[in-house]
Amino acid sequence: MKRFFIVLNVLAAGLAAQTFTPTNPAALAARGWREHHERAIVDEFVALLAIPDIAADRANIQRNAETIAAMLEKRGIAAKLVSVPEGNPVVFGEIRTPGATRTIVFYAHYDGQPLDPKEWATPPFTPTLRDKQLERDGQVIPLPPPGQPFDPEWRLYARAAADDKAPIIAMLAAVDAIRTAGLNTKSNIKFAFEGEEEAGSPNLAKTLAANKQLFAGDLWLVCDGPLHRTRRQLIQFGGRGIVQVDITVLGPRGELHSGHYGNWAPNPAFLLAKLLASMKDDNGHVLVEHFYDDIEPLSAIEKRAVADAPDIDPQLMREFWLGSTEGGGKKLSELITLPSLNIRGMASSRVGNQASNVIPASATASLDVRLVKGMDPQKTANLVIDHIRKQGFFVVDREPGAAVRMAHPKVAIVVSGKGEPAVRTPMDLPISQEVIRVVESARGPAVKIPNSGGTGPDVAGRVLGMPSIGIPIGNHDNNQHSYNENLRLQNLWDGIELMAALLTM
Ligand SMILES: [Zn+2]
Repeated sequence: MKRFFIVLNVLAAGLAAQTFTPTNPAALAARGWREHHERAIVDEFVALLAIPDIAADRANIQRNAETIAAMLEKRGIAAKLVSVPEGNPVVFGEIRTPGATRTIVFYAHYDGQPLDPKEWATPPFTPTLRDKQLERDGQVIPLPPPGQPFDPEWRLYARAAADDKAPIIAMLAAVDAIRTAGLNTKSNIKFAFEGEEEAGSPNLAKTLAANKQLFAGDLWLVCDGPLHRTRRQLIQFGGRGIVQVDITVLGPRGELHSGHYGNWAPNPAFLLAKLLASMKDDNGHVLVEHFYDDIEPLSAIEKRAVADAPDIDPQLMREFWLGSTEGGGKKLSELITLPSLNIRGMASSRVGNQASNVIPASATASLDVRLVKGMDPQKTANLVIDHIRKQGFFVVDREPGAAVRMAHPKVAIVVSGKGEPAVRTPMDLPISQEVIRVVESARGPAVKIPNSGGTGPDVAGRVLGMPSIGIPIGNHDNNQHSYNENLRLQNLWDGIELMAALLTM
């Protein structure tokens, strides 16, 4: 494990040692203000992190929401808790700017991933400062006395420190900083802080749909997730969609003795292996007919951004112990702008010391297809199902009876999910170009990607009809979703400057 982290840190240190001096006046003002208020910023952060925030813990979620609303009110920002029945509250806040002609909505979430406290080095809701990363023998240290500076490489350990309470603290500190500097917002500003993102946002779309006017705006800024692994600022213009397809190939009615019936009764594990092998070539190119037909090609500016993304593939291969990659030589940054077809898992009979000499009764594979802009989830799932038929399978969507099974040489049960389409805000929209300019004036040259590899629901687009752009601030090595989650303080300081710049655009 140690080697793993050393590789990461050498990579990060080598590429991001230079500090950038903002040309953005609000970011610059935020830097000066922060240098004199570090203890107060961290104190407010620690108090928020000390409130347990697992989405299912309704009582503490309410305490979080009320605390954040109070933090907004303390700054004179009108706040309220907005929810639908059974939903955790979205904390809403608003800064109205006289004469403003547009509204920017800043999104973050205050709930954290579920956890097992036994796995943590220090309790997850007792925020703990360490002098460096735990994996590099970071030691617990007390907060420095007021007036003493914090070492920016120190890390604060707590659930949600990075994912995703840090942006909330950064936004509010940025509000303090720009006001102290006498700077004004130019747009109307709204804040939307969700309390069940880590539970899959089960009520966000409903909450927004029931309060469309309240959350209406011209741009939805998603402040969540980590920076690029090089520690450069990342700007994400979307995410891939997803659709899942589960395939069960049926064999004999029950497991058969492999000696008595081997090479007579067809083996469903072999049939499934052949079927899966027919779906992709050796370069990872998907062979399902029409799979790539509907893809919206990248624009010139998006292609350039992909080409300009740092080449970290050799480092990643060393880190993951990979001897090869798919894609026929294409970089990871380009491959995530294309769809993928992946086997999530496979099962048939038993293996290892549970293995028995049988012909299995069935073999199952679970696939996920990551979609890009233009692809419809259901249509794509149907293309996969057509492909399965073309390989000679009779496809059913539930357990068939004896008659169906005996009438067809090859039978597969195939079930697909509803899926989620991809999101891609065009990089050449005027608002996209403005965000890029403002972010780079605060943080230096950014890594810009048309979409991330992962999937999130496009609530801003689908429910509110506005473009969304992702602006993360967390360190890439923050252990988010795992134990010992942490935030590197320099990321918080940079985040404050970034938010100051965005709040004044
Ligand atoms: Zn998050």
